[in-house]
Order: sequence, then structure tokens, then C-alpha cells
Amino acid sequence: MKQFVPDTRKLYRLPFSKNDNPNGWIEITTKCNLKCPGCYRGCNREDNQGEHSTLEEIKDTIDQMRQLRNCQIISISGGEPLMHPELGQIIQYIRQSGMIPFVHTNGRLLTKDLLNDMKSNGIGGLIIRIDSLSGDRKSNEEKLNAIRQRYIDLLSGYSGIHLTYLCVVNKDNIKEIETIVNWSVKHANSLDFLTFIPMRQIQFDDDEKADTSKNIEIEDLCEEIARIVPDIQYASYLGGTVSNTSIKWLQAPWIVLNGKIIGFAGSKFVEFFQMSHHLFKGKYAYKFGKDRSYLNVIQIFLLACFFQSFRKIASTFLSECIRDPRILFKRAVLQLLCFIVPPDFVNGKANICDGCPDAILYKGELVPSCALEEIKKYGGLIDKI
Ligand code: SF4
Repeated sequence: MKQFVPDTRKLYRLPFSKNDNPNGWIEITTKCNLKCPGCYRGCNREDNQGEHSTLEEIKDTIDQMRQLRNCQIISISGGEPLMHPELGQIIQYIRQSGMIPFVHTNGRLLTKDLLNDMKSNGIGGLIIRIDSLSGDRKSNEEKLNAIRQRYIDLLSGYSGIHLTYLCVVNKDNIKEIETIVNWSVKHANSLDFLTFIPMRQIQFDDDEKADTSKNIEIEDLCEEIARIVPDIQYASYLGGTVSNTSIKWLQAPWIVLNGKIIGFAGSKFVEFFQMSHHLFKGKYAYKFGKDRSYLNVIQIFLLACFFQSFRKIASTFLSECIRDPRILFKRAVLQLLCFIVPPDFVNGKANICDGCPDAILYKGELVPSCALEEIKKYGGLIDKI
């Protein structure tokens, strides 16, 4: 199975660090309207009452994040952020502080009114979790494409809102990711990122035992994707803190034209993009482009002069144009496939993402949000010896 996992020497290692990272992570509430198995914050637990942080506390965290993190975006997470009564003011404060607010949500409370409010306050992105493992879904991934479509319809007419669909995967639904990937590629004009996260059970008490029987690993995801997109080419990754050969984040930016993948933006392109973004804007980028990442024929041919990966894209674009000259006036779009692997153990040691983009502030320190409960309880990550 190893052969499906890319050789990291051919990938660009994203240069993110604690203090220079495109993403800042804040959690504004521990209230949630769902009980998803494996919730990192334990919102699914019977004893979870949940509470909202106050606007003052949140503003203070945003100020600290801006100082410590040099981030392009702030991810507003929870709990369910849409339940926070001052979400609009939080979004506005992030914008006024020079960063782009992204909201993580399960989407159930998303309405046109709420979208109007978030848009008028400056929301830059929505990251919506939709999968058959979450809270109340009693469906399969194929049927959930109708819900994926519903959010796209709801968002049509709002420009400048970057959209990510996030899907948690285990042995129950890994064979169904084909329908999600194929649907997402067809909707690349509306969907910017597609992220898969292997599910992990969090152990909150010493006497609890996490169920690992349905866990999948990066190898399983890579094998499955190779079946769906046989010529997949990954571009960038984040390694692990313990094993220098492990892959914790893995990304494949693919270029889609007319609902079909016509090639992959390679590692050199991503490296050039991140380096020049840092050089000219002083920070790494979380997303490509200002709005949706469209590429017209001229841009593709210009990129082909510098990047080998774009030569294949340009030649496919050209053959499509010969087949149907109207394509010359169409734009291709860059869509990102991303895998994020939660903490695992290497020789008994907890292995997390090096340069964790989802670090949260806890007692003035940046710590991985996935490990916050363990850090609160034990003061650090617990190894399994
Ligand atoms: S270390 Fe944990 S919180 Fe940070 S990016 Fe990885 S999975 Fe997410």
C-alpha cells in the first residue's frame, strides 16, 4: 500500500511554523447543536453543557493571535460558531484587524439571513463539515451530495466567500469518497477546497478506551484516491513532529476545466506561490487567489513558460479548444484536495503536525487544538509506551 503515498522528496514541505503560519485558530463556544462522535472538544459528551466566550475574551484572543501568528486568516471554530450571538461582531473585528475570517460549521443553522449578516461583516470563508459520520446524518455520501448542493445554491450570489467541504472518514465511509470527489470536481467553480480527515476517538478519561477499530490512515486515503484519480500528483505536505518521514497534511491542487481534472499544479508552483506571497505580503497564504482561483488561457500559457506541471495543463487545454473552440473563452479553476491526519503514535510517541496550522491559544501558548483537552488535563501530549 506504501506505493500510493508520495515520496516526500518530490513534494514541497510547507514552511509553516508556530509564529509564521497562514492560519490562526480560535474557538468561540463549546455549545453545539450536534453530538458528533470523536469531537475534539467533547461536545458530544453527555456532561457537556457548553458556554460561549464573551466578546471581550474573543477580541483579546484575536489581538494575541495577530501578534503571535502573522496569519492571513482566522478560523472561527467551536463548538458550533453559528450559535454564538455575537458572531457578526467577531467576524467584523477580525476583518478590522487585517485578517480574513473563516467560519467552521456543521451548517445546520446556516440561513440566508445569517449569511447576509456574516457577509456584511466581512466573512471570507466557510468550512462546512458534511459527511455520513457526523451527528445526525442517517445517510450515505451519495445522498449527502444533495446537501452539498444545497449549500452551494445558498451561497450563489455571494461573491468572495471561499468554500471548503470537510469530510471525516473512517472504514464505514472510505469506499464512498469516490462520490464526494467526483461531485466536488464537477462543482469546482463553486467549491475551493475538499478536505478529508481520518476520524479519531478522543479519550477524555483514564478509564475510557478509544475505539480504534474503524480508524484509517493516510495510506488508505492515498490508495483510495489513486483508484478515483489514477494520475493524482500531490504538491505539498506537512510532516510530523516525531517521525520525519510521516505525512500529516497532504495537498493536491488540481486544475479543473468543464468539470474535468486537466492537470495538477506541481510542487514548484506551490513553492513559488508561497515564497512570493511571503516576500510581497509578509505572510504565508492559506488560500490561492483573492476570490475563487480561476485561470484563463493566457494565465495558463504564461505559467507553462515557468512550470513544467502547467505545460501538460496547457496542452490539455489546447486539445480541448481544438475539439470545441468555445473553450478558449472559458476559465479553468484551481481546486485543492487536502488530507489532514490527526495525532497518531510513532514508537509510542504522539506524532502531530509540524507547523500545526490549527494551533489555539491556551494560557498564552500556542498548542494544537486537537490536543487541547489532553494538554488541559495532563499538561502535555501523552505518549503510549
Ligand atoms: S496538530 Fe492537530 S490541530 Fe494541528 S493541524 Fe494537526 S490535527 Fe489539526
